[in-house]
Amino acid sequence: RQLVVAVDGPSGSGKSTISRRVAQALDARYLDTGAMYRAVTYAVLRDGVDLHDPDKITAVAETAVLEIGTDPTGPYIKVDGAGVDREIRGPEVTRAVSAVSAVPAVRAILVAQQRAIIATAPRIVVEGRDIGTVVAPDADLKVYLTASADERARRRSSENAASQAATAADLERRDKLDSTRAADPLRQAEDAVVLDTTALGIDEVVELLQRMLEK
Ligand code: C5P
Repeated sequence: RQLVVAVDGPSGSGKSTISRRVAQALDARYLDTGAMYRAVTYAVLRDGVDLHDPDKITAVAETAVLEIGTDPTGPYIKVDGAGVDREIRGPEVTRAVSAVSAVPAVRAILVAQQRAIIATAPRIVVEGRDIGTVVAPDADLKVYLTASADERARRRSSENAASQAATAADLERRDKLDSTRAADPLRQAEDAVVLDTTALGIDEVVELLQRMLEK
């Protein structure tokens, strides 16, 4: 029987680190759906497409060829054959990604690709914003990670060069856009286990989830 673990939550909630660690512990694949939205956003910016033009954005999402690696020890993503792992974490893509991911047709294209990847994996941990609600509503375990706004900004600013204040402002803006957009907003699935990671260490959370999966 297949095993699917859905991990949702806002930026800086610990999703990526925890999802990768759980996938390694389970000997499972790992799918970072945020990287896919970021990769389409990279292609949109590369092609000079207007962020206010949903039809042109959709055309990019339709034609861009994404290739995503699902090994939790070395995930990667390519757009039209080019590795863009560094580029998709940069400030330009981070600024534009919420606008791109709010386009319903873009979501339809990426959700279909995500479901196809999930279908091929015997075990997989999938992280994003709408995994438990839209992409994999039948997941065996749904986890919703949170953390205080201060802690999330602290974690994110330790990962990039921006100041903590700038990072906090960017996170707040992105969370607001992600949770208020019309198409598949970030929200907790009713049957999700909600974990506040503000004061919990990574190891504690990973162990907790492993124990839940053993039951
Ligand atoms: O997780 P990460 O911060 O890399 O996600 C980048 C952006 O991609 C989010 O801010 C959100 O706009 C979008 N996203 C989404 N649905 C997902 C994953 C990410 O809309 N399942």
